[in-house]
Amino acid sequence: MFAEIITVGDELLIGQTVDTNSAWLGSALNQHGIRIKKRCAVADDAHEIRQALDAAFARVDLVLMTGGLGPTKDDITKKVLCDYYACGEREDTEVLALLERYFRDRGRVMLEINRGQAVLPAACETLMNLRGTAPGMWFDRDGKVLISMPGVPYEMQYIMEHGGFPRIRERFRSTPVTHRTLTVINIAESLLSKHLETFEAALPKGFKLAYLPNLNLIRLRISTGSERRANDEAALDTAFHALQEACREWMVAAEDTTPPEVTARLLLQKKLQLATAESCTGGNLAHTYTLIPGVSATYRGSVVAYANDIKKLLLGVNPADIEAYGAVSEPVAKAMALAVCQKLGTDCSISTTGIAGPDGGTAEKPVGTVFIAAALNSKVHSERFRFFGTRDQIIQRSTWTGFHLLNRLLESEA
Ligand code: AMP
Ligand code: MG
Repeated sequence: MFAEIITVGDELLIGQTVDTNSAWLGSALNQHGIRIKKRCAVADDAHEIRQALDAAFARVDLVLMTGGLGPTKDDITKKVLCDYYACGEREDTEVLALLERYFRDRGRVMLEINRGQAVLPAACETLMNLRGTAPGMWFDRDGKVLISMPGVPYEMQYIMEHGGFPRIRERFRSTPVTHRTLTVINIAESLLSKHLETFEAALPKGFKLAYLPNLNLIRLRISTGSERRANDEAALDTAFHALQEACREWMVAAEDTTPPEVTARLLLQKKLQLATAESCTGGNLAHTYTLIPGVSATYRGSVVAYANDIKKLLLGVNPADIEAYGAVSEPVAKAMALAVCQKLGTDCSISTTGIAGPDGGTAEKPVGTVFIAAALNSKVHSERFRFFGTRDQIIQRSTWTGFHLLNRLLESEA
């Protein structure tokens, strides 16, 4: 079962709005076993919208469209759809009642253009929108379905979840594709694919392995084909197990996740507390970790010891170590990790010291050289890394790696 996505809006074409609707729809449709053949973005222009619809319906039976349903003059999708389906307009009384309540609840006067939101092409069925004022529309003609929705992401998602998907399931009996995803770190995509050559060759017919890289993380997703067979689920489990074995060395977790999320889970389970001591990451470990909801019981705080004298002053790093090995060195990373545990009274810690660039590299320690240490009780483990990319990429790669080192330490203590 195939579908296409059309996003409408001038703002999408000039880069003012990033098209997140397509990404959300692609992922949600995929989980319903519906494959996206193509997606396109078009201007708020009648001719372009009509052409995009014709082209899509020539290929697939289901088209999802977002955008152009606002009450203002720049939004023309509704009018275009009246022409396209050669129908007049009707006022939807249920939508009108909803609009009246919407404005009453907010103490706002309902204007004529707002009332116009209840006027829909006569050929469509209404998909109610309880998150905003523009309803979704379901057109079904000559065996082909169009769902047209407003561009505002949370309104579109509401309409799909409450009206779109239930109807799609009823109308097209689609077979869901199943996935298993795992996450690995610090292995180049090309090397990984070489490493997994025999694994991939042995996958059952129709199964696919997808590589989804993001900086130094790669998500690996195995999926069954769209033609489901009875034992696919068991075969998928077997393949996923083999994939985990093959990736053991770099594996973050057997799921779609990030190292700090794994850290949070492990620390909650083990009832342990974390502190961080950051030089080159400048607080990014703390920021990344505190973005995760529910971590307060596991996190004490961070010392951002960027300058050498702060490393000495706040963390008691031995000046002789800095003198002898440099601030970017294994002894300093280890000393920072151990000191922050002690100063903040935690069970474990992560520290970073490195050269994020673009300047400051030397032949011995080029830009991207980062020493990262993780400590658990009095045990400390440190590694030297060489990361590539821009300054912010090096910081993010260091951050994920720091949490990963700690996770390894926590798992080894299990
Ligand atoms: P519209 O339905 O055209 O009035 O769109 C309302 C708002 O939704 C726009 O101002 C955009 O900010 C947002 N929007 C429209 N299309 C998209 C899209 N494809 N992805 C994310 N946001 C969108
Ligand atoms: Mg618009």
